[in-house]
This record gives sequence, structure tokens and C-alpha cells, in this order.
Amino acid sequence: MPLLVLDWLRRTRGAMKTQPATLLIVEDDPKVREVFSMRLKVAGYSILTAENGDEAVKVIEQNHLDLVLLDIEMPGMSGLDVLKIVRQQYSAALLPVIMVSGSSTSDAIVKALNLGANDFVPKPIDFPVALARIRTQIFRRRAEEAMRESEERYALAVLGANDGLWDWNLKTNDFYFSPRWKSMLGFEEHEIGNKPEEWFDRIHPDEVEQVKSEVSSHLNSLTSHFESEHRLMHKDGGYRWMLSRGLAVRDRSGKVSRMAGSLTDITENKVADALTGMPNRVLFMDQLGRALERTKYVSNYQFAVFFLDLDRFKLVNDSLGHLIGDQLLIAAARRLKSCLHSGDIVARLGGDEFAILLQEIKHASDATNVAERIQNALSQPFNLNGQEVFSTVSIGIALSETGYEHPEDLLRDADTAMYRAKALGKARCEMFDTEMRDRAVARLQLETDLRRALERREFRVYYQAITSISTGRISGFEALLRWQHPLRGLISPEEFISIAEENGLIVPIGQWVLLQACNQMKQWHEVFGNRSLAISVNFSNKQFIQPGLVGQIREVLEETGLEPDSLNLELTESLVMENAESSIALLQQLRELDVRVGIDDFGTGYSSLNYLHRFPIDVLKIDRSFVNQMGVDEENSEIVRTIIHLAHNLGADVIAEGVETQEQLEQLKSFGCEYAQGFYFSTPVDAQSAEGLLQQAVPWGPQGIHPALSTQESGFHPSSHC
Ligand code: C2E
Ligand code: CA
Ligand code: CA
Repeated sequence: MPLLVLDWLRRTRGAMKTQPATLLIVEDDPKVREVFSMRLKVAGYSILTAENGDEAVKVIEQNHLDLVLLDIEMPGMSGLDVLKIVRQQYSAALLPVIMVSGSSTSDAIVKALNLGANDFVPKPIDFPVALARIRTQIFRRRAEEAMRESEERYALAVLGANDGLWDWNLKTNDFYFSPRWKSMLGFEEHEIGNKPEEWFDRIHPDEVEQVKSEVSSHLNSLTSHFESEHRLMHKDGGYRWMLSRGLAVRDRSGKVSRMAGSLTDITENKVADALTGMPNRVLFMDQLGRALERTKYVSNYQFAVFFLDLDRFKLVNDSLGHLIGDQLLIAAARRLKSCLHSGDIVARLGGDEFAILLQEIKHASDATNVAERIQNALSQPFNLNGQEVFSTVSIGIALSETGYEHPEDLLRDADTAMYRAKALGKARCEMFDTEMRDRAVARLQLETDLRRALERREFRVYYQAITSISTGRISGFEALLRWQHPLRGLISPEEFISIAEENGLIVPIGQWVLLQACNQMKQWHEVFGNRSLAISVNFSNKQFIQPGLVGQIREVLEETGLEPDSLNLELTESLVMENAESSIALLQQLRELDVRVGIDDFGTGYSSLNYLHRFPIDVLKIDRSFVNQMGVDEENSEIVRTIIHLAHNLGADVIAEGVETQEQLEQLKSFGCEYAQGFYFSTPVDAQSAEGLLQQAVPWGPQGIHPALSTQESGFHPSSHC
């Protein structure tokens, strides 16, 4: 335990005992003996006495003494004889002996010192001098004893501890690494020296700076103890997660003389998933890295990586609660394990995502067979707390033969294949192939290009007319983003908006669209003298949750001079519903700005009708999937009619989007729908063409599409984004 070492350090520092020392006076002269013992008792010592050598030897054997005062000249066994016997058992450090010499010559004193006496006092005794010498000897003895004890304890700690110990002498810059410290990293005793580099050079590059700063913080007294989690390189080339704890030892002037502490292997905790006890992503990537290495020197070695995602797990979690959700994950993990061989690795990557490393396969079909087995196992109902829960899994597989360098690339391929499996209807397995890779590479390229598109001014805003059904006049436009890609031409937002949402670029891009659109609309107000024209701008979730959103919108309005009620923000239904409480507050603030708010794609999400009346909205936009199907399917017409009715009850206007035929338009008119938007009137067009539409008083009568408008003007064919 690391604490053992800290404890040891503390004890070493506070080791000087304060108990009274026990002294033995060996003196044949009773008078001297009595006076001497009295004086020493007064000085605070506990005193034993002996009259002659024989008695002295016995007392020494039977008592734990701190010091012996030994008269040299005694009848019978002399002081020197006693000294010889004592030194056979006790070193000068363990039991100090001070010789008391009467008339004896310096010869005898030299002899005594040679025999191992620690000091001498001459007779007649000068007590202050004698006391000073006694004190010095006792202090030395106790210091040595403390040191020895602590060393023993230390040695015991070193032997018994599961942790490695280290001790850094900052004066010489030498290290002591315990055998355990070395073996934790896979080394033999002699394979690691005593230099700081033995530790510091093994630290994972990502943590070097961190450890440096943790050490110096403690050396500079900024932290009460040193504690650091970092990876150290093992002899096998892999890394182990270690916890190193230590304490600086300061001398009297406060300067650090050494720092010592322990090393604990915490790889287990770091690499296990707390819920399932399975390996986590860290360990999985480590193992995957090793498997990848193996392919380099073991011919014909092939393995497969699975990326698994439970289908509809969110639904279980949301409807049955997190507890059941957790149980499902645990039970699923168990079943996954049961489908594999012992050498294979299954890990939980997080949430409902698992990964499998299938070792040693011969053919791709080995992998698909295992995938099938897994799918069967998981499709059996789970009994969780008496509740039957059904689950299926989507699996993506990547094979090792692709010759990648980094484990992340393989896992990414498996992930891509898994997404494909989901897209193809879930509960199935897909093998990563070159087509997927091309698509993934293209997507990556798109993302890279997207990052530069704003500064390279590659975005355009197109405008799609919104028409008043009763008058046939344009009431406004929806601003729709286009990307003029230098190589690929005009790219539809369907292709890049979701990427921009994922990486956050949608925030600056959306802000740019807002500014362009408001600016354009303000110009049209002035050119056409028609202030009732409104501009609709799409807002994504990421933008909506930006702090300071209301302020930014206000700024754009001030900058462009557009009246707030000419701006219509289109928010998606799911966004508003999923963040109901915060949305209501935000919508209220937008209202106060006098900006209009609409719900886009209405009918596709999970709107709770009970909820809807709580949202201060001005416009409901019926999703084009309903409008498109109106003529075809009676039910859809009914849905559209109901939505229109509902919107009117809420005091909102309705825009039907995706109107393509006259029949649809007429039906909408009969339902009392106010506005329509769609290819029947115009595709989204650039600002100049939109202006062309505005120049005509009534660009299209109820009878048909204006001949000047062709779908070509939208820049790409409408069918490409159906
Ligand atoms: P949306 O907001 O639902 O926009 C309407 C989409 O329907 C547009 O696609 C439009 O071209 C298309 N559309 C209009 N009339 C018809 C029709 O009669 N038939 C058919 N089949 N389609 C019609 P577009 O321009 O490709 O935009 C796609 C989506 O991209 C938009 O859907 C919107 O969600 C998003 N988007 C576009 N511009 C922006 C933007 O500036 N910001 C954000 N956040 N999203 C945007
Ligand atoms: Ca829209
Ligand atoms: Ca829409």
C-alpha cells in the first residue's frame, strides 16, 4: 500500500524516543556508586547498579540498557574483561560503554577504546562533564536505533508490499527502485539502474509534462503530497497505468533532501468498464494495437474487429428506466462473452456500444458466423426484473488484412460498417468494404473542406418563395444554404449540414446565413417598397443552445436594419420538444424581440399535442412528406387537415412545404391553409432570380407555374434530395 511508505517516512522523522534512558553503573566502591547513581537519577535517568564484573554481566544480559558506566579497576573481573564480554554481544552502537578510570594510565584507556569503549570519564568524577558525555552517547544510540528500526520496517514494507517503492536522493540525484518497482514493469533487479531517467524516460509522452509539473508542485510545497497517475512503458513495449505517490523529506532549513514514495499498478481500474466489468476502450485499443503488431511478424495471422450497437437501446432506457437499461447492458455483455472463445476480447466502448476482437480467423466467413451467433444469442428475450425485454444488435466488421498502422483506423472501419448495418434496417451485420471506405474517405474530405468553406466564401444562400395561397403573391422566402464546392459544384445542405452540426461549424455558418438573409431581405424591402415580405431562416439545434443567441439575433437585426417581425426563425419540432422547458423560455425572449418563430417539418417528430399550446409559436410548417402524399393517400390528407386545424386553434399560420402539384395546392386551399412553398411555384433560386420573381406582381396565378421558372435554376435537380 502506498500509505505504508508515507507512514514509514513520518515515523522515521519522529523516531527519537522520549522515554528515560536506563543506565548501569558498575562500581566496586559503594560510596562512588551511591553518589554517582544519585546524581544521575536527579538528571532523569533510571539507574541499575552492579558491584563487580560478574554481577554486571548478569544485569546486562537481563535488562534492556541504554548505556553502561564501567569502572576499569575492580577486584576480580576487571572493567576491561567485562567490556570484552559485552562487545561480543553488543556493538558500540547498540550498547555504548563509558569507562570510568581512576588512577589508571592512559594505557588502560587506549586499551579500552580499542576494545570498543565509546568514551571515558576520569575519577574523581566531574559530574557536568560526565553528564554531557553520557547524553551524547545516549543520543547517538537512540538515533541509530531509530534508523535501524526504520530501515527494518522499510525493508519489510519493500518485501511485503504489492507496490513498488522509490526513494530519490535529490542531493546526488540517485534513485533507489525496489525490486517490486522493477518487476511491475517487467524488469529484473539488475536491469534497472539508479538514475531518474529509469522512471522519467518510461513515462508516456502524453503525460510527461503533467508528471513534471506534479513533481515540481510538490517540491515547491504547492501540494501536501505527490500523487500522479500516468502510464509507464513496460518491458514488453506496452504501457501500464500507474499511480505514484510520494512525500518530500526536508532538512532543517526546509530544503528538500529526498523524496520517496510508492508505485501502484492501476491498469485494471483504468481499463475495466465499471458497469459490466469488461475491458473498456483503453484496454481494447491496447489489445487491438498488439494484434495489429502481430500481423507484421506472424504470417497468415488474421483477426476481425466487430463494432456492435444495440438497436433501440435508448427506447428501453427511456421507457423502462436506467436501471433496466443497465441490466440489459450487463446481460447483453454476458451473452456476447458466451459466444466467443477465451482468447477473444469483448469490450464495452461506452453507452450501448461494444467491440470485439476476434483472434485468429482463417476466413471472412469465420467472422460472419460469429456475428450470426451473436445475433441469435441477443435476439432471445431478456428477463430483467421480471420484465421481458427484446433487443437486437447491429454489427459492423472490419478485417485485419487492410494493412493499417493504427488500431483506431480499424475500429473506425468497423464503426462505419455498423452504421451501414443500421442504415440498412438494423439487426444485421455488415462487413467493411472498399466502397464504404471510399465513402468514409469522401466524408472526411468533405469535413476538411467544410472547415475552410466559410473563409473561402464558398457558401451561397438560395431563396425559395413562400406564396400566399389566397392571393398568389409572394409573401416571403425561405433562405436555404448551398455550398459552391470548387471541385464538386453546388452541394446540397442534406450532404453537409449534419456534418457541420456534428463538428459545431453550424454555429458560425448559421450566423453567416442569418446575416446574409436579413441583409438581402432588407434590400428587397427597399427596392420593392414592400415591407410585408418576410425571410425564413433555418436554425439547427446546436445554434439554438448557444448562449447569447438572442443577443446575436438582435445584433444582426440592428446591423442590417431589418424589422424583427420580418424575420421568421424555423426551428425543428424535435429540438423544441426535447428541450421543452428551456425552449419555452427562449421562445418567449424571441417573442419579446418581436421575431417570429415557426416549427419546421411538423408531423415528423414526436410532438405532444398537449404540449404544443405552451409554445409561443407563430407558424407551423407541415412537412413535405405529408403534403407530397396528399393526393395519393386519404389518410395523409386527413393528417394535413388536422394539423392545419390544430395550428389555427393555437393561433398560428400554416405553411405547407413541398407543394408540387395543382391538386395539392387546391386541397390545401380547401383546408384553409394560408401559405404554400414548393417546386410547383419555384425551386430555391439565387438572389437574382428571386428578385425576378418579385418583379412580377402576381408571379403565378392559381392556375399554374410561371414559365420563367425552371427547376434547373436551383443548381441541382430536385430529385437529388428527395
Ligand atoms: P427544410 O428546412 O425542410 O427545407 C426545405 C427543403 O425542401 C429544401 O431542401 C427545399 O429545396 C426542399 N423542397 C422545397 N420544395 C420542395 C418540393 O416541392 N419538393 C421536394 N421534394 N423538396 C422541396 P434543401 O434546400 O436541400 O434543404 C434541406 C435541408 O437542409 C433543409 O430542410 C434544412 O433542414 C437544411 N438547411 C438548409 N439550409 C439551412 C441553413 O441555412 N441552416 C440550417 N440549420 N439548415 C439548413
Ligand atoms: Ca426549413
Ligand atoms: Ca422543412
